[in-house]
Amino acid sequence: MTNNNLNRFVPARITRAGKDFDYCPLDGDIPLLQFINTHSKRGTLQAKDYLTSYREFLIWSHEIKLIDDETSDILELEAYCYEREAGGILNKAIIARGNFYLLIDHIMHDEPVPAAIINELNDANDEANRHIHYVMTPYGLREAWRSPQEELAFPLWIITKSALKFLTSAEVKYIKRCHCGHFYLDTTKNRNRRYCNPLTCGKIRRSKKYLERLRSRQFEDLAIRKFED
Ligand SMILES: [Zn+2]
Repeated sequence: MTNNNLNRFVPARITRAGKDFDYCPLDGDIPLLQFINTHSKRGTLQAKDYLTSYREFLIWSHEIKLIDDETSDILELEAYCYEREAGGILNKAIIARGNFYLLIDHIMHDEPVPAAIINELNDANDEANRHIHYVMTPYGLREAWRSPQEELAFPLWIITKSALKFLTSAEVKYIKRCHCGHFYLDTTKNRNRRYCNPLTCGKIRRSKKYLERLRSRQFEDLAIRKFED
């Protein structure tokens, strides 16, 4: 992989929440997989959920450019004024994220997907669709969101529509899971990408392997020396 190709793994971070904020890694290549990866090392003792408040969900949505600066500012104020409602939206986002994870996990393991997961995704899709209408533009008839800026659930509707659009495409078969647990999309020509992020995970893995090789060589040297003694 050339340095140019690797540059895309250096995320252009938007750090509006300040230096001390615990920013979520942005690995995952597409919003759906980035969304699932906000619960990192799922099912292990090192599991960490980066979405534990509506504000964190909003900051993440803004960072991966689901929403623009203005919408982010308005929703932050809305969440401050309607704290309970914002908490409810976060719960819905967590449920949707779990369903997307289970769906992909079942697909990757070639297992039948439980009907309950599909039903819940259909409900989430129906809710998002209620806020879409058609408008005439210079380019023709287009779908558009209906006055979304004051809707706390707006980022969730966008991620839901984007995720379902991807999941109904042929690219689903290119989803892979890194040794760190993160999902990513392997669109390389030979489908031989091995890490969610070659600059972080790949580096760690390569240095671990290097250390293992070094240790085993030192062990062999020691054994030979002992034999020669
Ligand atoms: Zn990884």
